[in-house]
Amino acid sequence: MEPINEEEKTLYTKLINMLSFIDYWEDDSLLQYALTLIPVDELRVKATLKYSSISESDSIDIDDVLLLELLEWFKGSFFKWMDAPKCDSCDVVTENKGFIPPTDDEARWDARRVEHFVCPRCEKSYRFPRFNHPRKLLQTRQGRCGEWANCFTLLCVALGYDARFVIDWTDHVWTEVYSHFNKRWLHCDPCENVCDKPLMYEVGWKKKLKHVIAVSKYEIQDVTWRYTADFEEIRKRRNVCREEFLLHCILTVQEKLQKSLSPPQLKVLLERRARELAEFLSPAKPENEGYSGRTSGSLSWRLARGETSCLPPNYYVFRLSTDEIKQKFFHIKYSCALDKYVRVSSQSIQTEDWKSFTFSQKNIFRKVENDWKVSYLAHAEGFSKGSVTWKFDFRDTNLVINTLKLNLHSRTFNSGNVKWLLFPNSEDENSIRYSPEDVCPLETTDLKGSTSFILTAEMTGGDSWQHAQVFRQSLDSTMFPFEVEIHFEEKVPSS
Ligand SMILES: [Zn+2]
Repeated sequence: MEPINEEEKTLYTKLINMLSFIDYWEDDSLLQYALTLIPVDELRVKATLKYSSISESDSIDIDDVLLLELLEWFKGSFFKWMDAPKCDSCDVVTENKGFIPPTDDEARWDARRVEHFVCPRCEKSYRFPRFNHPRKLLQTRQGRCGEWANCFTLLCVALGYDARFVIDWTDHVWTEVYSHFNKRWLHCDPCENVCDKPLMYEVGWKKKLKHVIAVSKYEIQDVTWRYTADFEEIRKRRNVCREEFLLHCILTVQEKLQKSLSPPQLKVLLERRARELAEFLSPAKPENEGYSGRTSGSLSWRLARGETSCLPPNYYVFRLSTDEIKQKFFHIKYSCALDKYVRVSSQSIQTEDWKSFTFSQKNIFRKVENDWKVSYLAHAEGFSKGSVTWKFDFRDTNLVINTLKLNLHSRTFNSGNVKWLLFPNSEDENSIRYSPEDVCPLETTDLKGSTSFILTAEMTGGDSWQHAQVFRQSLDSTMFPFEVEIHFEEKVPSS
């Protein structure tokens, strides 16, 4: 079958170009080199610890947990996003001036295009070659989604996973990894550190998907149906080519890929394919905000749940420093976006995460929604209730509380509920209850004369764990949704 227009020609070329990845995945010395860069032992230890803490180990496998660790390490410590280089003399972002041809050396690493950047101040030129060879990318460790997915897929192959490189025709690429345990392909987006949330593009990013094609060493598949909840809409949009032409291309490429496989190998692939097609027959259903994958919640979810339920309490207690006693002032704040505390009254930024300064917590975890770009604390899935507590104790000073200022942001949906409880003089059973509106902000003398207190947030109800969110904020927000500010006065000596 011949292409009948430019779009079909481009589609065919793009599919054939995808095959160039296979050479990388079959290059043993490259895979060995990639393995030396992954902290395999460390990731395995982490995965094993997490795996042993999961109560529902029947729905997740150690290899799947290791994959999540790999994703986290890849985004957190290995690869960097690159929009435009910074000028090293002026420390400003340079401007894109279009493409320039690659040098011989750049071309050697499969850079077909080089982006040209110029510093707006000193006019110095910078090159950003879009390398395709993963051996080079393992050194540069930067790029946009193309470089990310290319490199991440290679690392998956190096670790022994069956991995696919996935191209979406509306200009995004990612990875799929086969889970032998779950007997299905898992969507993995290395740029977002997201696993098994295939609807994130359509529901979260509002992408108008058309064609999504995956290629592995031995097969090529139209996987569009994994990434949409609306087959009808997508069918209307799929006008890039005739469906029968796409099928023809896929079969042609598939034949090339499988020509050297043995009958038992082909049988395994055929079984997998049959299972995958059956999966595509029922569209996934997005929930309002926290849609999940096709099965009951994504893998990362189940893991988060396993993790949070076994977290031991911390028993951290806030006490005054010498400086704070002198100033008769204490001020702590926390950013959920950065997951950092700032102790304003001693001018120190605390790098610790949300847990580190809590007295105790039950079934709570910090959720980051990369697709919605927000973060918050919530009770873990599978529990109807969660709570988190901070403790303040100033009894070892000669000060008593005068005024207390609280700024405690939370947000609820549907029947979800957040309650704030203040226990003056920590041992007291009697608490003061505040509704979320009261503490946003609150300035009170309710604690006047006290020398210690406990502050607790209780998240309950809702049909979903996400319906009660504490400290919800946008990931680029510079606000502090948690603030405790205390002014003290000297204890009046009793006569
Ligand atoms: Zn400059």
